[in-house]
Amino acid sequence: MPSITSFETHDIRFHTSLTGDGSDAMNFDCDYSAATVILHTDSPTLQGHGMTFTIGRGTDIVCMAIKEVANRLIGKDVETLFADMGKTWDYLLADPQLRCEKGIIHLATAAVDNALWDMFARYKKKPLWKLVSDMTPEEFVRSTTFRYITDAISKEEALAMLRERETGKTEREALVREIGYPAYITSAGWLRYDDDKVARLVREAIGAGFTHFKMKVGANFEDDYRRANLIRSIIDNPNSFPEGYSPPAAGSLQGKNAGPMGCVLMMDANQVWDVDEAVKHTKGLASAKPWFIEEPTAPDDILGHAAIRKALKPDGIGVATGEHAHNRMTFKQLLQAEAIDVCQIDSCRLAGVTEILSVLLMSAKFGIPVCPHAGGVGLCEHALHLSLIDYIAVSGSMERNVLDLKYADHLHEHFVYPCTLNSKGRYNVPDDPNGGYRQVELDNHQRG
Ligand SMILES: [Mg+2]
Repeated sequence: MPSITSFETHDIRFHTSLTGDGSDAMNFDCDYSAATVILHTDSPTLQGHGMTFTIGRGTDIVCMAIKEVANRLIGKDVETLFADMGKTWDYLLADPQLRCEKGIIHLATAAVDNALWDMFARYKKKPLWKLVSDMTPEEFVRSTTFRYITDAISKEEALAMLRERETGKTEREALVREIGYPAYITSAGWLRYDDDKVARLVREAIGAGFTHFKMKVGANFEDDYRRANLIRSIIDNPNSFPEGYSPPAAGSLQGKNAGPMGCVLMMDANQVWDVDEAVKHTKGLASAKPWFIEEPTAPDDILGHAAIRKALKPDGIGVATGEHAHNRMTFKQLLQAEAIDVCQIDSCRLAGVTEILSVLLMSAKFGIPVCPHAGGVGLCEHALHLSLIDYIAVSGSMERNVLDLKYADHLHEHFVYPCTLNSKGRYNVPDDPNGGYRQVELDNHQRG
């Protein structure tokens, strides 16, 4: 029975600031980066790879914190850890001198928890999504945490919901394997791209099968207005589409302000506004018919998001947030306060798969679609597993829960297991039994 013997961390940075990839209203020159951890065992064939996402300076600080958290696992027997991942997660966060469900320690815990889940999946010879989707409702509930959220969802409610979803699991898995998981694209609308580049990338995205497009807003109203209407003019124009194009099913477009070609536009302000400013600016862009405004204000301002959502309701524009919601309690309050139309979990901001499963359960109970954030190195690869778990085992829905496809193409070459798309702009389902959750495993070249 293997046990954990050692670990290593790596500070990996890509110079995306040189090209403007990833630029938005708050982050003009970030270097997409990752703090990674590899857990070793006394079995030469069993490792666990995990990461958290960073944007340049400070990645070394996260690596230091990972060492503190990962150190708690040395000498632990892996089967005991895997038998109750909820308990394991509690243990990781329970060092009395480090206990802090926020900030650097939480990011570090994400990397370590993700590494454990990767190891668990590889140990069972299944990709992570399959490992979790195949769990019984009892095993699923034991694999997450309910601490501080039982007023929103109890274990019993979660069990009842998961038992109900047992019906149809096999069919859902077969369907998503066949048609892929729906994705949306942000790469066409980075803030620092000029109009010509945006127009070219939007046309290319249409050619690649995409129907959901996200643009960055918030630096300058005139620029936002012009760019939004530019994108609309392309995605609503039949001439932009290849012959034989057929729009997505009407049901999947409900409430999304889709245009005549079935295309959807989303906007992301990356926290740049105060509440009143967010309402005013977004209302000014209403003619471009966005489905939602994402991160309109500070990510911790739950009541602010609720106020913005209420104010934008008459305009038919929703509110999305979550990529900076730092724990499950923030999501609980966003849901309870009716502050969001779309829940955007982040695989590395929440403390790993264990905490994410609790947010998937809460979102399903509140009937809010989960569209994971994936802007960063390795996040698409992670988020695909989480969306598949959500679809197959938790919410039972995928067409409304589109998954972000936000990454700089050139970063893919560094991944041993990169995600791939089919000709309809949908994610292929990863199926390597040794793939675990390690689609984020970076090649040796990039290890610093
Ligand atoms: Mg965003």
